[in-house]
Amino acid sequence: MSYLVLARKYRPRNFEEMVGQAHVVQALSNALTTQRLHHAYLFTGTRGVGKTTVSRILAKSLNCQGVDGQGGITATPCGVCDACKDIDSGRFVDYTELDAASNRGVDEVQSLLEQAVYKPVQGRFKVFMIDEVHMLTNTAFNAMLKTLEEPPEYLKFVLATTDPQKVPVTVLSRCLQFNLRPMAPETVLEHLTTVLQAEGVPSDVQALRLLARAARGSMRDALSLADQAIAFGNGELREAGVRQMLGSVDRSHVFRLIDALAAGDGKTVVETSEALRRDGMAAASTLEEMTTVLQAMAVLQAVPSRTGSVDAADPDAADTARLAALMPPDETQLLYSLCLHGRAELGLAPDEYAALTMVLLRLLAFKPAGTAEKKTLSDSHVGTVEARRPALPSPAAPPAKPPASAPVSATVPVSMPMSAGAPALQAERAMPAPSAPPGQRLPLVSSPPRPSDPSTSAAPAPDGQPESTPPAHVVAVPIRVQPPAGARDVPRGDNHRAAPAAIEPSEDGDFWHATVTQMVVAETITALARELALQSQLVARDVDQWLLRVERETLNQPGSRDKLQVALAALGHSVTIAIEVGVVADSPARRNKVAAELRQRAAEEAIHGDPEIQALMRDFDAKVVPGTLRPA
Ligand SMILES: [Zn+2]
Repeated sequence: MSYLVLARKYRPRNFEEMVGQAHVVQALSNALTTQRLHHAYLFTGTRGVGKTTVSRILAKSLNCQGVDGQGGITATPCGVCDACKDIDSGRFVDYTELDAASNRGVDEVQSLLEQAVYKPVQGRFKVFMIDEVHMLTNTAFNAMLKTLEEPPEYLKFVLATTDPQKVPVTVLSRCLQFNLRPMAPETVLEHLTTVLQAEGVPSDVQALRLLARAARGSMRDALSLADQAIAFGNGELREAGVRQMLGSVDRSHVFRLIDALAAGDGKTVVETSEALRRDGMAAASTLEEMTTVLQAMAVLQAVPSRTGSVDAADPDAADTARLAALMPPDETQLLYSLCLHGRAELGLAPDEYAALTMVLLRLLAFKPAGTAEKKTLSDSHVGTVEARRPALPSPAAPPAKPPASAPVSATVPVSMPMSAGAPALQAERAMPAPSAPPGQRLPLVSSPPRPSDPSTSAAPAPDGQPESTPPAHVVAVPIRVQPPAGARDVPRGDNHRAAPAAIEPSEDGDFWHATVTQMVVAETITALARELALQSQLVARDVDQWLLRVERETLNQPGSRDKLQVALAALGHSVTIAIEVGVVADSPARRNKVAAELRQRAAEEAIHGDPEIQALMRDFDAKVVPGTLRPA
């Protein structure tokens, strides 16, 4: 007997066998059981999730005659009557499958519709199944509309598409729509295990895990890959073989890379990358695996309690947990972002592996150099803020160092790589900046090494240069990011070269700015409540009621108002807050912005006014890259 591929052999023959689409199965089963049948169904979803399968089962349910030939419409087709068998083997005259990808035109649709006038020959219903229906031409769609809207009662339409966006609304509105979901890797893994057991193919779970991941939500892909892997592995499914077949990277390489990156160990990074080239591992898949691991790490860092719930059978889980504890969350985020973007670059480089090495080295270049000192930039703040703060869940990262003698954070050269999104978090020397909760520390990246020791710039640098005069060679690199206390609360994009903000100092402006800053620093207000406080102007202060004014009605949420009241009460202001919407001329956010702009201007003037820099610009045609200067 000829070999039947797994995907066909194990195609579900009834609703119970359908895997991972419980929501659709339930809806259809109920409709069939109660005989509330719509005349047109649309199944959407990516390839290999079961659109055709569902449609065949539906056709069987409608036409099944039961074991004894007396059955009616049922949610559990018998599988043995003529109708069931014929539909399974594709020769049921009343079930027509049309592949719209190859029959796009109006003629094909019309010849299909011509059959609609004849009653079913063999079964109870005629079922027209149009696959990839979005490929039909507009005229073909139009030709179909009339029949689709009011088909004869013996006719059911089943449409399937991977791209519902391209299906005209007129068609969508005539159909009952079901979205088949991509299958979770665990679901695929489970099904693969069952299938291979039934087939008697020896396999190890890591191999199946790899296949399940590679299938990307498609059961058909998973089974096809399994077929291929069985042939490749000579009847067995072993991890090494499957890896080789998929060209996927051994996770141990990935863990070694992340380990080395966490330790700033460039040698190992380069060596591992060379080993990958030697073993013929795909560079794209290396980065892909890295993003998967980094994502899992970030989840563990944000929700440490999940460490216990990870799949104990997965040997990678332990490594992931270990690395999650090793690497600060901000760095994890940064690596994730760089890996993701790096993948897109691979195709641009002449040599895939050179590109991979570059991406990996970039991860190192953007990493704070002396991790021990600097990776926990905000931790030095945690040390001071934590004392005043009710116990926050401790970060998965190593515990905060005791505050160093000098405020290290204030002077580490930092730049934000990429526009990845997060506003830079920085500490302020003069005014304590709001420190982010440990869980959200943001990527901090040092610029190339500078001659002056970062930790001493509060004092004059060793070479006697005043700190405000950066060494000449940094004129063309981002010198540092030092946003003001409220910068991360200012809408992004605004704090950079925007029109100068203006404030009209109000009577209570100083008081409100100081109060809000105090609450922000102590983190007694966060998120929307903090936003409300920062964006508002204190208009009037009565004994028991304060009136705030905001420009955006959306800031006026009862929840944030309550939180603000609680925080104010903690400071000894037991008042109710009333909020009006109007023009705000003086808010803490605005004050912060103005202060930032003044510092920016001062920094630019300092740079441009510096004789050394002027000499550089004159003699070497050096330029200060606009927008790269940040006030210290
Ligand atoms: Zn049957």
